[in-house]
Amino acid sequence: MRVGVPKEIKVHEYRVGLTPGAVREYVHAGHEVVVETEAGAGIGATDEVYRAAGARIAASAAEIFATADMIVKVKEPQPGEWAQLRPGQILFTYLHLAADPEQARGLIASGCTAIAYETVTDARGGLPLLAPMSEVAGRLSIEAAGGALQRHRGGRGLLLGGVPGVQPAHVVALGGGVVGTHAARMAAGLGASVTVLDRSLPRLRELDELFEGRVRTRYSTLAAVEQEVFSADAVIGAVLVPGASAPRLVTRAMLKSMKPGSVIVDVAIDQGGCFETSHATTHAEPTYEVDGIIHYCVANMPGAVPLTSSEALNNATLPFGLALAAKGLAAVAENPHLRAGLNVHRGRFTHKAVAESLGLPY
Ligand code: NAD
Repeated sequence: MRVGVPKEIKVHEYRVGLTPGAVREYVHAGHEVVVETEAGAGIGATDEVYRAAGARIAASAAEIFATADMIVKVKEPQPGEWAQLRPGQILFTYLHLAADPEQARGLIASGCTAIAYETVTDARGGLPLLAPMSEVAGRLSIEAAGGALQRHRGGRGLLLGGVPGVQPAHVVALGGGVVGTHAARMAAGLGASVTVLDRSLPRLRELDELFEGRVRTRYSTLAAVEQEVFSADAVIGAVLVPGASAPRLVTRAMLKSMKPGSVIVDVAIDQGGCFETSHATTHAEPTYEVDGIIHYCVANMPGAVPLTSSEALNNATLPFGLALAAKGLAAVAENPHLRAGLNVHRGRFTHKAVAESLGLPY
């Protein structure tokens, strides 16, 4: 199969659909890979590096869209891109169609087969192509909290791990899923005192075993959230209720009980956020202050570390991409998890929940 990798054109998107390491795997499996010139610039991978991995370099995205059997990307296609997609062509990327009717219509009109990373499933009911970005965001949330706690950035002037003889910061993660677990791991690793709250008792049990006492767990009731937020130096918003906006767990009134200069990092901001005072920010201006509390609410946190994020994403997408390249649509037919990723096929919606949320026929 001929696999095409156009350069990402969404503003501030530096990740790339296939890393040079992934290209080598496709080429080794007998596929032809065509990469747009400069596609890897955001992760420091030059055309030369891609050539060495076995790719052919195309001068333009148009050439790739015109000739590739499968397009592998990171972000949803932009209007100029979906206009170039063709019937029979496979598009493998994040789509997030449920909130994007314009793109949905564009993909339907193109006749392409669009497989969305975010709806591919695994045997445990998880979303394996979303998890790597949650891992990145969870770990990054502690770096963000540590930076924002510094005095010159408006924070309390507290070092997360303290030093011998000085108390560390108290970090509270609201939600103990992928983001919360990776935040807890980073914070505990730095020596912070960490509490994770979750509504799932089985999850709290798993965390208790995983961290062997280095992280406290607490069932997430209104009272528990109130008490933990009150004593926290940094709160990480990491809740997710599948298919719904994030629950607003922390009100503005609760914020007033926090110590001035404390920090909240609302990772769940992409689902609306779990703090009443959150609104989405960008990497250019990541923080703002409300009632003396520093808010960090960047909606695309993994974009700050495209090298790590591209590799983490490729590790997860590679087996699915190789199966698609080897078998085409037969791979979708025989693998229910890849089938769950199928959103659009030959001018029709093929994912019930996505079609329903758009109010369009399935
Ligand atoms: P996850 O499903 O792995 O974990 C969510 C956890 O929240 C679950 O364990 C669930 O039991 C728990 N939860 C639900 N309601 C709760 C409540 N009332 N109190 C406490 N816990 C509760 O999800 P995840 O992968 O960890 O993602 C968390 C959020 O981070 C999502 O909204 C996701 O979209 C977002 N995210 C944002 C970025 C970013 O760049 N900002 C990047 C990746 C993920």
